[in-house]
Amino acid sequence: MTEKKVRIKIPRENKVRAELQKEIGSVCPFCDNSEVGHFEIHHIDDNPSNNDYKNLIFLCPICHSKITKGDISQTEVLKKKIDILTTNNKSENSNGKVINFNSKIGNAIVGDNNQISIKQTKKTVEKYPLGCLGYDTVKANYVGYLIQRYNEYKESEVGKEKIKYGVFGSMLKKQFKIGVTRTIYNLPIERFEELVNFIQNKIDSTKIGRINKNKHKNYSSFEEFKNRVG
Ligand SMILES: [Zn+2]
Repeated sequence: MTEKKVRIKIPRENKVRAELQKEIGSVCPFCDNSEVGHFEIHHIDDNPSNNDYKNLIFLCPICHSKITKGDISQTEVLKKKIDILTTNNKSENSNGKVINFNSKIGNAIVGDNNQISIKQTKKTVEKYPLGCLGYDTVKANYVGYLIQRYNEYKESEVGKEKIKYGVFGSMLKKQFKIGVTRTIYNLPIERFEELVNFIQNKIDSTKIGRINKNKHKNYSSFEEFKNRVG
């Protein structure tokens, strides 16, 4: 037997909508999109009869569907709401921070009195092990510097609106056969030069890179970079 979900129309919905929109500063809290034509209301605890203002969050339709599909977890949504409430309520009364949910949300515990706590199985922060590019901070930073330079060049080529910053990183991961759950900084350190040459060539072959090339260098060499930061 599945529990029947009863949807109750939000009382004074327009007022609630206005407050929710103000709360997020008219920017989708998940994707930062400010050009949203119509924000939607999501019931955080998935109970459409719980119209407690603290159970509601305003967001764009795309992110709303991500929640429905499970691409954004309930815990993430809850955390986001708490973030919003704690940021906005700093100067307001403390019971604004209490969130009452009728249903249990994963392993999140939402708090009593002035405290909000979320208990979660701790994700171990994976440090890059010895032998990985990420283990060597200076080399890793140099790679980061080159990626940034590439994105800068690409940005002025295609425009700020059109550039997809994640694309280059994904391409590098593919090129160097890095698993999906890993980053380019998981690359074995022996391949540092190969990676650097690859990115440098990519920078040089951007439009701006080609124009610049004969006038001045497109990037510092690793030696120069090392001396600059070291
Ligand atoms: Zn969104």
